[in-house]
Amino acid sequence: MTALPDGADGPALQRAWELAYLDPPQARAFAVEALEVSAAGSLAAAWASWHIGLADVRASSLATARSSIQRARAGFQCHGSPRGLALCDEVDAIAARREGDTAACRALHDAIDQGPDPSYTDFDRFLAHNSRAITAKLMGEPERALSHFYDALQAAEACGWDGPRITAVGNLGGFHHDLFNLEDARTLSEQALTEAREAGARAMVTNSAANLIVIHHASGRPDDAMAMAKFLLEHPDEQLPGALERVALPIALAHLVNGAIDDADALLAGGARAQVADGDGRAFWAWLNARCLMTRGAHATARQIAEQMLQTCARTELPYDQMELLRAAADACEAVGDLAMALAHTKRAQALYQDLVGQGARARYRALQASHEFARVERQLDVAQRFRAEAETDRRRLVDLNRALEAKVAETQLLHAQLREQVLRDPLTGLHNRRYLFEVGPGLLELARRQRQPLCVTLLDLDHFKTLNDTFGHAAGDAVLTRFAEILQMHLRRSDVLCRYGGEEFVVVMPDVDADTAAQTMERVLQEFHAERVDFRRKRLPPCAFSAGVAAFPLHGDRLEHLLGRADKALYAAKEAGRARVEHARHSGFATLT
Ligand code: GH3
Ligand code: MG
Ligand code: MG
Repeated sequence: MTALPDGADGPALQRAWELAYLDPPQARAFAVEALEVSAAGSLAAAWASWHIGLADVRASSLATARSSIQRARAGFQCHGSPRGLALCDEVDAIAARREGDTAACRALHDAIDQGPDPSYTDFDRFLAHNSRAITAKLMGEPERALSHFYDALQAAEACGWDGPRITAVGNLGGFHHDLFNLEDARTLSEQALTEAREAGARAMVTNSAANLIVIHHASGRPDDAMAMAKFLLEHPDEQLPGALERVALPIALAHLVNGAIDDADALLAGGARAQVADGDGRAFWAWLNARCLMTRGAHATARQIAEQMLQTCARTELPYDQMELLRAAADACEAVGDLAMALAHTKRAQALYQDLVGQGARARYRALQASHEFARVERQLDVAQRFRAEAETDRRRLVDLNRALEAKVAETQLLHAQLREQVLRDPLTGLHNRRYLFEVGPGLLELARRQRQPLCVTLLDLDHFKTLNDTFGHAAGDAVLTRFAEILQMHLRRSDVLCRYGGEEFVVVMPDVDADTAAQTMERVLQEFHAERVDFRRKRLPPCAFSAGVAAFPLHGDRLEHLLGRADKALYAAKEAGRARVEHARHSGFATLT
């Protein structure tokens, strides 16, 4: 889809772009609306003026077209839009061509093409190629014209709007007819007509149907030519007002070749005059007229008209029409008995026919080339799209895989954490175990060292626990162990490390706590524990106690093993001294905190 240029936003202007080649009068109406709603001097106003100019130049209102383009140009100059300025030149070129100054038109095209890159959109490229094609056609450069017509078609396809595409297809169809490549002319014109009717491209409905009349005639299918003429006459609603007058000649042709001479005559005398007066189709008009006269037996007049036209008709008249004119002249000469002139005209007609067949063959070859090129581009597009689709599928798969992997990793991490917890905790009391103590203990000591803070290690052992087990059973002992762990936890901080060291022995590591404070805490725990009467199977167990030994960093050592050893010694001392007490390790001469 052609991107709208800066300042070309707004629904009315958007419609003007879309309709520019689909329905010029409607496009113009939208452009006028856009101009009314846009701020004076804005870029949007410049584009609106440009659209009015484009619509007018194609409708042959050259004066208003020029003044609109002048306004647009001033706006583009103000806003510094090289693209806008180049497109103003394009419209001026069309105006020059419409005035018959193909050289001026070509000069403008060359100036644009040799100037700095105006960054044309696909729509702009369509417009430019279409215009260059028409100029080349008028200047008798069929190869160049054909090449531009195909470039216009490609740009139109890329642009994505109906108007440019239908115009490009229709113009190509008409030009293939001019080149006597009737096969492609017919296919393209029929495509243009179908699409134009569907999209409501009113000008192209008329043009392509009129082209088809001539194509059918040249292909020897008078019935099809008549069907097309009838279609045009019966569907004025699908065409622009006044459109039928411009195609009076082809409609007259259809009637002529189907024996409806009166109708043909009326058409030639009426609307066809306007067409001829414009300079277009003079040869066409002349040979049709000559043929009509001959059917009525007016061979001399027919000859006169035909030969007169042969002398004056410009080189720009279509070779096909010149050939038909020569044939009509030859037939008229033969009818009036001038066999020598008849032969001369026939020879010229034959030569033109040979040229036309050669040209047609070349055009057919070019059309084949173009369709191959289109097919190749389409294939590339298909491949690119498939690649994109595959890449997208791969990407999605990868995302899914990643998600699954992340979930798996999270699950594994959780499992790991759970497993780690299991490995590092004592299942009976829920406290950490000995393994945990040796995992975190050294780190805590290192931290204390760096932060120059004390750290206490206390070893606790329940008193006469074997007796308790023996008297009340192992389960009673378990209940006491569990309750003891709870009491211990209540008195300690979250930052303290509590471990069941083994059996009925526990270790508490208290960072940032000196030996006295640690001992005081343990005394409080002892008091509470001793006061506690654990209920077990409706029996109250006797009061329990523990003995504890406290060792402190750095006073009693700087390694966990040392501190545990010193605490154990203190514990032993507590037991010796009668149990149910807390003992400090003895001073060992280690460094104190400085
Ligand atoms: P002391 O005052 O000298 O420490 O005497 P004690 O009886 O507490 O010491 P001893 O080492 O003789 O006995 C410890 C008992 O602790 C022996 C063992 O059966 C018991 N024990 C160890 N682990 C558990 C356990 O998980 N549950 C129970 N109920 N008893 C345990
Ligand atoms: Mg023990
Ligand atoms: Mg014990």
